[in-house]
Order: sequence, then C-alpha cells, then structure tokens
Amino acid sequence: MIRGVLLDVEGTTSSLSFVRDVLYPFALQRLSSFLLRRWGDAALGRVRGQLAADPAAVAFTAWSADDTPEAARSKMAGEALRLMAADAKVTWMKELQGLIWAEGYAVGLLKSHVYPDVAPAMRRWADAGLDVRVFSSGSVTAQKAFFGHTVSGDLTRLLKGHYDTSTGPKSAPESYRRIAAAFPLPPGEVLFLSDKAEELDAAAAAGMRTGLMARPENPPPPDDTPHSRFASFDMVLVEETTQAQPAAPEAPT
Ligand SMILES: [Mg+2]
Repeated sequence: MIRGVLLDVEGTTSSLSFVRDVLYPFALQRLSSFLLRRWGDAALGRVRGQLAADPAAVAFTAWSADDTPEAARSKMAGEALRLMAADAKVTWMKELQGLIWAEGYAVGLLKSHVYPDVAPAMRRWADAGLDVRVFSSGSVTAQKAFFGHTVSGDLTRLLKGHYDTSTGPKSAPESYRRIAAAFPLPPGEVLFLSDKAEELDAAAAAGMRTGLMARPENPPPPDDTPHSRFASFDMVLVEETTQAQPAAPEAPT
C-alpha cells in the first residue's frame, strides 16, 4: 500500500534541459550582481554562515571574518562559480543558487518546466489522500520557488514536504530512511520516483518502493535495473493501490 510519493525533480517532474540550459546559466549570469544588490539580506547572511561552517570552502577561499564586504563577495562569487561549473552538490552554493532563482521567478524572468502529466497526477494523488513530497539536490528554497512558478501554475499547495542535500546525499539509503521518518510513514509505504538508478537503489535499500522515470530526453537507464519503469506519471497508478486498502495505519513494529 502506497501512502506517500517522493519526487525527484530533474528528469522526473521536469526536463533536464530546463535545469541545464535555463536555470544554471541564469544563476551564473546573475551571481555577481545578486551578491552586490542583496548582500545585506538575512537570507544571504545565512548562506555566509553556511559557507563559514564549510571547511572545504573556508580552506579554498581563505574566508575570514575580517574580510571587507567587497573581499567576502569576491571570494564567495569565485568559489560559487567554481562549484557551479563543477555541478557540485554543496549546500551553501545550492542555497545561493536557490535565492537567485527565487528572485528570477518573483520578477517573472523564470517559469519552471514540468511535464504535462505532472500537475494532473499531483492533484489526483492529493485527492486520493496521498502525501506528496520532493527530494532534490536543489535547495528547499529553490524547490519552493520552482514549484511555485511552473508552466502548470503554482503547485506548492500539492506538496507537503521538501528535502535537499542537508538531509543527506541522494545516493545514501540513510537519507531515505530519514525522509520516511519525517513523513512519517514506513519506508515500504512511500514510492520514490526518479530518473537515476543509483538514487532508486539507495531508496530501495532503505525499504522504499521505487519507479524509474524514463522521460523522452533522459539518457537510457542501465539494462539490468530492477526498478519499475514509467514514461509518465499517468502510468503510476498509486491511487488504485491506496483505495483498495483500508485507510487505518498499521501498528508500528
Ligand atoms: Mg533526477
């Protein structure tokens, strides 16, 4: 019985090319001006705190509490550019990216892509009483901005939770155990949908149900992957499973 759905974003709800060809270049192009304009914002202060707590970033930038704002901005921009170019999943950089995107959405410069089957399926699942959440390497800030401004409208009210790399890596079973506990549901009642076999392997190792999204532009998955394959959310018939079962939760074991 499935009572929760956990969604990956890139290659699952949304095209890889939107993230690669629209979102990433947008953050790169606006990074310096964003830091200059919004340096005093509380949200950017939190990102500075995250950078200062990241030993790798501090070592690489020679970050110091005594830096002038100009020096600190220059160090942050240089390290963020390096990490963005490497597509690194570093929490403070993803948070910074998310803030730049949130501004882009708010002023109407960005509208995020979701496949046409995504919003209708999310509504069906919500109507069937399913708890739908997102786990993405994009920061929670970025996820909320992303789903708040899609080509299918504002989908945030259909999502009950967001998880990013601060919960753990997407390739680690422990991350999925933590997320199931946060729902809270037994892992076996949560279906994780992703385009990446290694993420599904980790979720399955934690006891979650899994589905591999085979979107048209995704690279072909490995032939030997054991996960169910879906070309669209229309093929994911979790609500039938839910309705066929009594609604009472099982006693914890
Ligand atoms: Mg993905």
